[in-house]
Parts: sequence; C-alpha cells; structure tokens
Amino acid sequence: MAKPQLQKLCVWCGGKGMSGEHFWSEWTHDYVDYGGTGRKRGLHTRILDVEVHEPKSWAKNSPLNNLKLRLPCEACNNGWMSTCETAAKPHLIPMITGGSCTLDADAQRAVATWCVMKAMLAECDKPDLAVCPQADRDEMRTSRTIPDYFEVRVGRHGLTSKASYLRCAETLYVGEDGKAPVVPIDAPIKNVMTATWVIGTLVVAVMAVRSNITPDQMFKVSETLAPRIWPQTTDTIAWPPPVTMTKDHTMWFAHRLDASARMNARAGKLIWTPHPHEKL
Ligand SMILES: [Zn+2]
Repeated sequence: MAKPQLQKLCVWCGGKGMSGEHFWSEWTHDYVDYGGTGRKRGLHTRILDVEVHEPKSWAKNSPLNNLKLRLPCEACNNGWMSTCETAAKPHLIPMITGGSCTLDADAQRAVATWCVMKAMLAECDKPDLAVCPQADRDEMRTSRTIPDYFEVRVGRHGLTSKASYLRCAETLYVGEDGKAPVVPIDAPIKNVMTATWVIGTLVVAVMAVRSNITPDQMFKVSETLAPRIWPQTTDTIAWPPPVTMTKDHTMWFAHRLDASARMNARAGKLIWTPHPHEKL
C-alpha cells in the first residue's frame, strides 16, 4: 500500500498552497543559453574522506536550469521572493551575460540578499542537512535580514558550463578538552555550509559558518578573483573582477570546505555553538 503523502508546507512561512521555484530563475532563461539536455544530482555522506553511506544519484532528461524546488508557497514565491528577484535583476543581468557594471552598496545588498535567499531555500531540499534554523528563515522572509554568519562572494568564470551547483554541509565540533565527541552522522546539526553555483557567466559562492570564527577567517579568498559583496567591505565594486575564474578556481571554490574546515577543526580552532533547538 502506498504511504500517505504528508502535506508539504512552505519552508518560509509554514503556509499551504505550494509552488515550484526555478532555482535558475525563469527570467534568466531569456538571457542565458544554458544548453544541456539532461541533469544529474548526487548525494555523498562522508566522515572526513570516508563514504559512510552508499552515494545516491538521480538523473533526469531535463536541463538543470529547469529544476524547480517545491519548497515555497505561492504567496511567498509571488510576493516577497519575487520582490527580491526584481531588486537584484538589473544588477544580475550584466553579471550573468558577460557584461560590465558597477556594484554600489545598494546593488551589493540586493544581489547578496538574492544569493542568500536562494541558498537558504535550496538547503531545505534536504532539511536534515540545513544550517539555518527556522528563526533565520523568518527574518529573511519578514525583513530580508542576512544572518551574520553568512558571507557572499561573486566571480566571473570562463568555462563552457552555464549551470551547475554544489553544496557541502558539515558538522564540525571540538570539545572543550580538545577531543571531538562522536557526532551522529545523520543528526540535523550541520554548522558549516558552502554553496557554489554557476548562472551563465557568474559564479556565486555563499558560505555560512555558524561557529566562533567568521567565514572570512575560515576561507581565504582573493578579492581580485571573487570580491566579497556581503558583509560589505567597499562602496563600489567594478564588474567584472580583474581575474576570470578557471576550472581549477571554480573547483576550489566548490570544494573549499573539504580542506579548510577540516584543517580548522583539526587545529582545534572551530567550536560548534548550538542553537537552542539542537542537541547532540
Ligand atoms: Zn510561504
């Protein structure tokens, strides 16, 4: 007998009436020739470098840019999320199409908010692997607040691929005596996340480090390669950045959590700070 389907509720407001949100926003399809005829998705679960579950993969005969996330309700999708898209769109158009522009403080905020909104939404596709608690999604929905443990960088790449996405989430913990406790691998207590994705010629890198150090301390990134737009460091960023990212650059971005987080954890520099709803 088929299992009864649970009613899905909006990950932002808890409302009913779900809708599908294109991760590669529908309006971008008019500006970017994404190409491709199919897509693959995969899930790996590792402790350090060792796979602890059989890797999973899914394939579909539909291009990646057609991927829809049935996570928001219609009211959120057509309301505040759409407003967020509209605010970022004029700045994103030159960024995804290989053009040039100047990102002033307002533009940096609009693009960064859009990037974090996408990352917060996408991580709800696997709720047990999410870094953000509901309270931070509430703040994003009601006041467009970016949590203070986020960092957003943007770069231009020179690759042929126009759509890709990789998210890594980890639980990093160092006990007070310097010894790491045994953390259940499937426990919903991820505290570090990186999401890297490509839209047209743009590379977006969103990092969230919910710990005693900031993303900036954890991941050293060249400003000439991928300037930081959140937290803001300068009033004006000339686009594109001086250096165009190669395949090695983008791979480093996508996998930087593997090296950097573990190095910090092993050095005892990273201490997990739980939110009230989290227990080991
Ligand atoms: Zn909603």
